[in-house]
Amino acid sequence: MGLPPQLTLEQRQEALIKASASRKRRAEVKIQLKTGDISFDTILELAKSEDAIAKMRVKELLESLSGVGKIRAQTLMERLNISPTRRMQGLGRVQIKQLREEFMKSEHALKPGKLLVLSGPGGVGKSTIAKKLREAGDFWVSVSATTRKPRANEVDGQDYFFVSDEEFTRMINAKEFLEWAEFAGNRYGTPQEKVEHALLLGKNVLLEIEIAGAKQVKAHLPQSILIFLEPPSWEELVSRLEGRGTDGPDRRAERLRLAQEELATASFFDVILVNDQVESVVGKLIELAQN
Ligand code: 5GP
Repeated sequence: MGLPPQLTLEQRQEALIKASASRKRRAEVKIQLKTGDISFDTILELAKSEDAIAKMRVKELLESLSGVGKIRAQTLMERLNISPTRRMQGLGRVQIKQLREEFMKSEHALKPGKLLVLSGPGGVGKSTIAKKLREAGDFWVSVSATTRKPRANEVDGQDYFFVSDEEFTRMINAKEFLEWAEFAGNRYGTPQEKVEHALLLGKNVLLEIEIAGAKQVKAHLPQSILIFLEPPSWEELVSRLEGRGTDGPDRRAERLRLAQEELATASFFDVILVNDQVESVVGKLIELAQN
């Protein structure tokens, strides 16, 4: 190795100031990651444009996460074949993917949030419950993508991401969905990355989706809790669907047929709740996430 370059006093001072600013910036980012203000992926993004983050050692970042000490960070890195001196900018695509998956699995390392999947026949009142939970701040509620046209009061990005058929197909091919399914002539899917980030940050996540999708989630993430929401009675469900002025008679008949099919699958679920009182269902879901 050659000798280090001779620096003037001024250059040395400049380098010291720069190093101290980098340390400060890294400390800031680590705190934000710990408190959940930014995600692991945000840091990866920052590493593309900020030198201080790009040069941060992966080890340093992992050790700063709550629940991961020096030993766990070291074991994790050994298992993923990441050298102890590896910096953020040097992480390969596969390593990034493995790190994410590892965070998802290692419940004790990072205490990820719980994943609750709320399912049940259309018209049973899932979205009302999801809305209450989102407002109460108890859950991070996923926003699905759909090819269905927006209803009068629906807002893009809030109720759904309304996308074209082509865009939905692109998202499937790009493996952007945790699950997706066709329902009453439209396609619906849960964006995978956002759900995983929220879980990684220890947030409890709620998916409000139909049954075929719920089964896919269970196959993919067995730790998820599948909840089936039943109507108090079949008559109640029919009257709710009839009262939905947004669907034409054909669509309503199709939704009723689907609801009958869906009710028959309840036994697959981990928990069955009857939606007789919204507040009580909301309370039970919060309880399930806390246990
Ligand atoms: P709607 O058109 O009434 O908003 O929703 C129709 C059905 O699609 C509902 O049962 C709803 O829970 C379900 N759904 C909404 N988003 C998703 C999703 O991302 N994936 C799946 N599989 N079903 C969804």
